Amino acid sequence: MSNTADVIVIGLGAAGSAALYQLARAGISAIGIDRWEPPHAMGSSHGETRITRQAIGEGQVYVPLVLRSHEIWRELERETGQRLFEACGVLIIGAEGGAAMHHSRSGFVLNTIAAAQAHAIEHDVLSIEETRARFPQFALSGDELVYFEPGGGFVYPERCIAAQLAMARKLGARMETGSQVTAITETPGGVTVQAGGATYHAGNVILAGGAWTPGLVGSNGLAPLTLRRQVLHWFAPERPQDFAVGTFPAFIWLHGNHPEDSFYGFPIPDDLGHALVKVADENQSRATADPDQLDRDVRPEEAAEMHRDHLVGRIPGLTLPQVRSAACLYTCAPDADFVIGPVDGMERITVVSACSGHGFKHSAAVGEHAVRLITEGPAAAIPAFDPRRLSAIPQP
Ligand SMILES: Cc1cc2nc3c(=O)[nH]c(=O)nc-3n(C[C@H](O)[C@H](O)[C@H](O)COP(=O)(O)OP(=O)(O)OC[C@H]3O[C@@H](n4cnc5c(N)ncnc54)[C@H](O)[C@@H]3O)c2cc1C
Repeated sequence: MSNTADVIVIGLGAAGSAALYQLARAGISAIGIDRWEPPHAMGSSHGETRITRQAIGEGQVYVPLVLRSHEIWRELERETGQRLFEACGVLIIGAEGGAAMHHSRSGFVLNTIAAAQAHAIEHDVLSIEETRARFPQFALSGDELVYFEPGGGFVYPERCIAAQLAMARKLGARMETGSQVTAITETPGGVTVQAGGATYHAGNVILAGGAWTPGLVGSNGLAPLTLRRQVLHWFAPERPQDFAVGTFPAFIWLHGNHPEDSFYGFPIPDDLGHALVKVADENQSRATADPDQLDRDVRPEEAAEMHRDHLVGRIPGLTLPQVRSAACLYTCAPDADFVIGPVDGMERITVVSACSGHGFKHSAAVGEHAVRLITEGPAAAIPAFDPRRLSAIPQP
């Protein structure tokens, strides 16, 4: 078998599986390489569910990506017969009239409403009374701004990755899993990749290594990216019927002005065989130096803290003890925007670091965008995601 292709995709998680699928769809020869067997629970794409919403409060530059991703998930559902995207509605609750911050954006709910209006996305701004009547599971204090988007909801990340890899393989892409990339070298005519004792050659590389990407680049171009351990918890409600899809939405609740005054959660998925509600908060401050040293054990105190800081007085139907927990990694840019494009001095290596805690919903389209960067060049670039901007951002 030839170890040469037009494009090598390194990392087959959310972004890499999407890129491999899009390369195969476009008839471009491609080899995808992953160190584990994706979908797996070692990176940033595990834990059953990810919120998706169409009006993006992180910035309107993201709206076309999420709308395109929704189209791709639906297309993949038709191709594979798998349910990938549950449009069960998403509720965003913002304290203090919507001024609260999320993913480094203040006025997150206001930004979301502005994005919905600008892009004609169906939504409702609910009064406190309407919210209480429609979603009595949430105990509002009364000063919140509440946004509801019926076309939002959640996706199943492991299924999305598996579906894209299955389709990529069916369309002719080659996959090497259980094979760790140890070196990526630009040569005058292309790129050479060392992985699992073999050498691969391609015209271009898409580097989608998630939390391992900064280490794989081998220069300090991505030094401002920081890794942050995140923890997910599953609770068993006494009344599961109150948290079913169709009754309870996916939600984000920003209950204060500190970046960590927020949490989010999901309804009970219909077909995962359990009756558990997943909730999580966000660590925005403590960095993890090495993804291989991630502390994957979640202590009971972490669930107790999450419950005390966020759930008590807000979602009374969810009580301790939690049933299970998991740890996961965010790869965060200082401005919380994505990093997509070549890094300095490596024009044939397109880095795709689409995380900062909000990347999954966009990932199907991000894969397509990465392929366009290779086939169309800089004209296809989205300036907000240019890796070179990182050098101008003061490090925290
Ligand atoms: C707890 C948590 C909750 C989140 N919630 C949401 C949400 O609700 N909505 C949302 O939109 N986003 C959410 N996100 C963000 C989203 O999940 C991530 O942006 C996305 O999953 C990142 O995908 P990725 O492809 O960059 O990384 P990954 O999916 O981790 O993929 C990286 C891949 O690279 C491989 N790799 C690494 N090193 C090597 C190597 N040397 N050789 C070969 N392969 C290698 C890994 O094995 C892995 O498969 C959340 C993230 C976390 C952690």
